[in-house]
Amino acid sequence: MIDLRSDTVTRPDAAMRQAMMDAEVGDDVYGEDPTINALEARVAVLLGHEAGIFCPSGSMTNMLGVAALVAPGWELIAESQAHVLRAEAGGHAALAGVTSRTWVSPDGTFTAADALALMSRPRGYHQVGTAAISVENTHNFGGGRIVDIDELRTLRRETAAAGVAVHMDGARLLNACAATGISADEYGRQADTVSLCLSKGLGAPVGSVLVGSAEIIEKTRLLRKRYGGAMRQAGILAAAGLYALDNHVDGLSDDNAHARQLADALAATREGIVDPETVDTNIVFLDLSDLAVDAEQFAAQAAERNVRVSVMGENSVRLVTHRDVSPEQIDTAAEVLTSLV
Ligand SMILES: *Cc1c(COP(=O)(O)O)cnc(C)c1O
Repeated sequence: MIDLRSDTVTRPDAAMRQAMMDAEVGDDVYGEDPTINALEARVAVLLGHEAGIFCPSGSMTNMLGVAALVAPGWELIAESQAHVLRAEAGGHAALAGVTSRTWVSPDGTFTAADALALMSRPRGYHQVGTAAISVENTHNFGGGRIVDIDELRTLRRETAAAGVAVHMDGARLLNACAATGISADEYGRQADTVSLCLSKGLGAPVGSVLVGSAEIIEKTRLLRKRYGGAMRQAGILAAAGLYALDNHVDGLSDDNAHARQLADALAATREGIVDPETVDTNIVFLDLSDLAVDAEQFAAQAAERNVRVSVMGENSVRLVTHRDVSPEQIDTAAEVLTSLV
């Protein structure tokens, strides 16, 4: 089976499992797990911040980052398809009392003006004030689009002047770095808090890290405990993250190239199904509106031929490339999918 549903399906390989076996551990609630401490420090430096906190999921790192920046009843602004608002089970509202408004980006690209136009400073007791803006880099439901660094710089400058914070959902930030050559800390410095997933393209079984100032991260340690996310000898998991940062970052450019290969093959076969120019990283959305089958039927036909894709809408499917799909399997997937369209 060639599984293109998500890069979360990647499994730890033998060498990563060995690194996990060999990890030195301690009780992290006492701050005594050396492997977790090393991972947190490493990701903080990688993303240009003072401190980091290791969490069981990307949703939790996003919730902690946003909760540290947005007091209950205040507002987070994000794109209408942002993971923080669409795919974290409403956690920001349910657990932290965060309200939200959205801008809409049909093609998944980001312009600072869209976000800044929504910013509101409270006048009087009735009005909701904007505390933070969240940007997703790369934008998952936006088709893996990269956030333009100059737009980010503008956002950073204008929000700082207005006293509004920036959170970056950088679940796949290193895929953006692989594509643009811009360093992770250059992107990371454009936000107050940044999350990074280890369990997607990087191939670790579990884990995400949130970074920010020492003060913000200290605040999130209390919140993580409150949310039930403080772990004990989880250095065994952090070791997988460290191994991934040492060994799996280079492979992300192959994943990006594979996504483009699939998009090119499909676009050459059927007009209008995808514009390869919009495939920035490792995610490809296909528009099936002109096909005789809907997305469910298309996914079922692909699965019969051993290719799994995600249904994202009535006429929309998503392909995500990752390290557990080899170049040969990408060729096979391209054959199967082009024959279906
Ligand atoms: C996967 C993902 C997350 C985190 O998801 P978890 O399943 O909670 O780890 C956050 N943001 C984006 C954009 C994602 O794609």
